Formats: sequence, structure tokens, C-alpha cells
Amino acid sequence: MSDNSLGLAGSPSVVVVGGGIIGVTSAINLVKRGFQVTLIEKAEIAAGASTGNCGLMAVGEIVPISKPGVLAQVPGWLMDPSGPVRIRPWHAMTMSTWFFKFLKAGSKENVQRIAQGLTQLSNAAAASYQPLLKEAGIEDLLQPYEVMYLFDDQSEISHGQYDWDLRSSCNFEYEFLTGDQTREAEPEISKDIACSMLMKGWDYFSDPARLTKSLANLFVSLGGNILIGEVRQFEFKDHSMDAVVLATGERIMADHFVIAAGAWAAQLSQQLGDNLPVEAMAGYNTTIADAGVKVNHPLLHHNGGFVITPMEMGLRVGGTLELGGLDSEPDFNRARTIVSKAKKILPNLSGHNKTEWVGYRPMMPDTLPVIDYSHRVRNVVYACGHGQLGITYGAITGELVADLVQGANSKLDLSYYRSDRF
Ligand SMILES: Cc1cc2nc3c(=O)[nH]c(=O)nc-3n(C[C@H](O)[C@H](O)[C@H](O)COP(=O)(O)OP(=O)(O)OC[C@H]3O[C@@H](n4cnc5c(N)ncnc54)[C@H](O)[C@@H]3O)c2cc1C
Repeated sequence: MSDNSLGLAGSPSVVVVGGGIIGVTSAINLVKRGFQVTLIEKAEIAAGASTGNCGLMAVGEIVPISKPGVLAQVPGWLMDPSGPVRIRPWHAMTMSTWFFKFLKAGSKENVQRIAQGLTQLSNAAAASYQPLLKEAGIEDLLQPYEVMYLFDDQSEISHGQYDWDLRSSCNFEYEFLTGDQTREAEPEISKDIACSMLMKGWDYFSDPARLTKSLANLFVSLGGNILIGEVRQFEFKDHSMDAVVLATGERIMADHFVIAAGAWAAQLSQQLGDNLPVEAMAGYNTTIADAGVKVNHPLLHHNGGFVITPMEMGLRVGGTLELGGLDSEPDFNRARTIVSKAKKILPNLSGHNKTEWVGYRPMMPDTLPVIDYSHRVRNVVYACGHGQLGITYGAITGELVADLVQGANSKLDLSYYRSDRF
């Protein structure tokens, strides 16, 4: 076993665990504030959810997944393996505690507060990215096209009025387009689509993997260090963490630690006694290099729960929510189902030269992330649980993490994101 003491003689040192968008933005902000930072990633940078997601800067998506009326939808989630949300029945039995917290979070009063917590992050999201994109030389990644929510039938809008009112009450705007106006903006869209909503201020990244990897390169150019290795254990001294221990046995010591391990954060937090209820919520996509159609806006199909995003490497059809844990075999039929639904929206879509992918959103029961100290171990900060919004909230989370490690006042009210709220 070798000892690797980082920065003990110079400026304070930080180990960040997890090389997804959240770990990388945290690492950049920390190195910029003068810390000696080592980012530890078990596979490669952007190995997890941060690579194959839909890339949306969903800055007005402040409606949590659990909301009033959600219980009535649960039987469908259990019974229909091809629906937009699925719970694998055997997994349902192991996640009753999480599910109880999820249902409780969906009361009217709780949803109001959750929406405020998401709104704060949303309002800061775009401005936090701008300097990072500029410094990394990747401003071209952010595409200026707003997301279009597509409806098969106009009545879906009034059925979802609660969501639209909640967005309006938080000052997020959207514009109704008739079917003809929708096709004027995107001529490839079929007549099956009755109308759409243009989500004001939402835009998208045309390659989320390039985003995370380029930011990781920026981190290294600023003096940060990336280490490939799996963190297996922690060592403690006087109520503080002293070192992380890798699968190889190597010990990495530091003054501060940040856990940004996405859907794997639950396991690591158990070792610290914090037991964060982060569930792995799988999502699938198919990226089609020769799609045979050109669209500019990302298209979000309301009923299907999936997104069609024009990425640099092809058209990505991705989304759906599946609760089945981290160890279950992926069910790529879900990816194929949404491609066949996408063909109804874009009749000229062909399926040539395609790649399928599964990734795991780190999901808290209330949709809010955890950005807070450990309440058990003094020098540990958590940055995880960003669910379906981790790309959107990546840059602002990095700033907040650096505030916490530094002990500086934060520009946002962090009480929404406490690690001990469940
Ligand atoms: C299909 C799909 C579509 C999505 N679309 C969008 C979207 O349009 N907009 C949006 O904002 N968000 C979207 N998301 C959500 C977004 O992708 C995630 O919220 C975000 O990527 C989470 O980032 P993260 O850094 O927390 O986790 P991850 O990207 O999963 O990174 C965690 C990293 O930690 C590493 N790790 C884990 N354990 C250890 C360990 N013990 N030691 C060392 N390393 C470890 C993993 O290998 C991984 O690389 C989508 C997600 C999915 C699945």
C-alpha cells in the first residue's frame, strides 16, 4: 500500500471523486480558487450519465417528477415495460423506502418549495457556463435553438395545466405554436403532431461528452490532476476523512473531499453514515449517424417522455425513466421503442449507422440535488443527485461546491440541497 500525500506542504488539497460533469466543474472551480485538486475517476472522464444524455439546458424544467396525482400513475409504471416511466417489479420491492420519500415529496406544499430550489439553480445555470465554455474554447457546443415540446393532441396541454402554471409562477415562459406553426419551424414534423410549446430560454449542447471532456482538459491546463482508479474505502482521523483508498490499495490523502459520483454516490455515502437516497434511474438513447432528416430544435415528445436532439454525431433519440438499480441488465428494447415512436414524429427518419446507450441518472426522491457538507464527517462535501438536470446545473453546482469547500458565503440559498433532508 503506497501513501500519496497531496498538497500537505503547500495550499490545501482536495480530492474530487467522480469524473462526470459535476465532478469536473467542481474540480475546475476549486483549482481556480487555489486548491491543489485531484479528480479521481474509476473508468474514464464522462463514463457515466454525462456522456449520452440529451444535452438540454432545460433551464425552466422546475417541475419535479413526484407531484400531486403521481400515485395514480404508478400501476402503469409497473405494468407497461414500454411506457415513458417504468419500475422493474422485482426492484420495486427493494426500494420501498425511497418510494415512500418520493411520494411524500409530491405534496402540493412540498412541490412549491422544490420548484423554488430548482428555480434558483435554473436562473444561475446559463451564466455560470459562459466563462467555462469560453476558457475551454467550446462556445460552439451551445446551440441557440429552443426546445419544442410536442403534443399528439391539444388536450394534453390542459391535462398538464398544473405543470404549466408552476413554470409560469416561477417566471419561466413558453409560447404555444399550432400544428402548422410547428411545421413551419421544423418542416420534417408529421401531421400527427397537433401543436407544440416553444420553451423560452432552453437551448442545448450538441455533444455532452465533448462538453465534459473539454472541461476536464481545461481543469488539467489550470494545474489539476486526473487519476484513474476506483475509490473503494475511506480512512478517518478525528471525525475527518484522512484518505480515500483505491481498488489497487493506493491511499490518496487530502484536506478536503468532494463526492460527485453520480448514481454511485449512494454506496459511498453509506460508508460515511449519511445514507443519501440516490437511486439510479436508467435512460436509453440511440444516436443515428445517418438519420436522413434535418431538424434544428430539440424535440421533446410529451406523451412518450423522450427527446430527439440534433447532435454533432447524429440525431439522438433518448430519454425515458427506468428504476431498476445499477446492477440489472439493460433492456435496450426501451431504446428501440422510442426510435419507433420517433419515426411517427419524423416520418423520414431512417435507422442507419446507429449506436445504443444506457446511462444512470442520479435521482433523489424530490428531484433536488444534494450540494452540502456531510453531516457525519467534517471535511466532506456532496455534489450528487442531479437526476435529469445534471447537465443544466453542472456549472453552477461547481461554483457552489467551491464555496462550501472554501467556507465562503454562497450566492444561493443552499438549504434546499441539504444532505440530511431525508
Ligand atoms: C437518457 C438521459 C438523458 C438526459 N438528458 C439530460 C438533459 O437533456 N439535460 C440535463 O441537464 N441532464 C440530462 N440528463 C441527466 C444528466 O446526464 C445527469 O444528471 C448528469 O450527467 C449527472 O452527472 P454526474 O457527474 O453527477 O454523474 P455521472 O456523469 O454519472 O458521473 C459520475 C462519475 O463517477 C464515477 N464514479 C462512480 N463511482 C466511483 C468511484 N467509486 N471511484 C471513482 N469514480 C467513480 C463514474 O464512473 C462516473 O464517471 C440525462 C440523463 C440520461 C440518462
